[in-house]
Amino acid sequence: MAKRSDIDLEALEARLKARRQELRRLEEVTEESRRPVELDQSRVGRLTRMEALQDQAMSLETERRRQVELQRIDGALDRIAEGDYGHCVHCGEEIAARRLEFDPAVPICIDCADD
Ligand SMILES: [Zn+2]
Repeated sequence: MAKRSDIDLEALEARLKARRQELRRLEEVTEESRRPVELDQSRVGRLTRMEALQDQAMSLETERRRQVELQRIDGALDRIAEGDYGHCVHCGEEIAARRLEFDPAVPICIDCADD
């Protein structure tokens, strides 16, 4: 596919990699909060068990979202490696530069996103 001259690929790639690193770091530092509550009562401290369970559920949901975002980012980095970054994975049309600036990991163009 034609190389895009209207986007700063290096800058976008740098942003994707920085975000991926940040997500992985968060994944690590929050690992403890996702452990099963009943296996470690000591960390619960003054929280009630119900609150601890709610906290854990929220942590799991946050982690799930992080994983989804990581997959998006990995997909975008794959497309950069393969040279078809900036093109909609659905219809193949160019994704608007502004759209990529806003979210470098976005995989589809605005038209396909609207469907
Ligand atoms: Zn499209």
